[in-house]
Amino acid sequence: MKKIAIIGCGSYMDAGYGCPGEWRCLKAAALGEGEFEEPSQVVAFVKCECPGRPTVPNMGMAMKLSEIKPDKVYLSTCMVKAKPECPNRKVEDLRAMLEEKFDVEVVEGTHDYH
Ligand code: SF4
Repeated sequence: MKKIAIIGCGSYMDAGYGCPGEWRCLKAAALGEGEFEEPSQVVAFVKCECPGRPTVPNMGMAMKLSEIKPDKVYLSTCMVKAKPECPNRKVEDLRAMLEEKFDVEVVEGTHDYH
């Protein structure tokens, strides 16, 4: 089973109903639905917080403290498909930073649930 980490948009997560931290990302990972090709083990869930500067270091700290490097890092659907878009950073820029710093595959989106 693949080990995966998820990064969610904290601004959306804190806004209330519909937060991916409730169940959506976790269900999709557990069942291998949405952007997950197979049932996957979530080994880290990092919450981005505006303006997003600590997100990449926090992902690194999760890997270091857990002593687990995930096979893939998933950017939550609420982050990737946000309307209005994140005012602080482009999704592709965050993806590029994660890929460069950790040499890990990054997937945009997690689930298709409503
Ligand atoms: S910086 Fe962007 S992705 Fe991160 S919490 Fe704020 S709005 Fe969400």
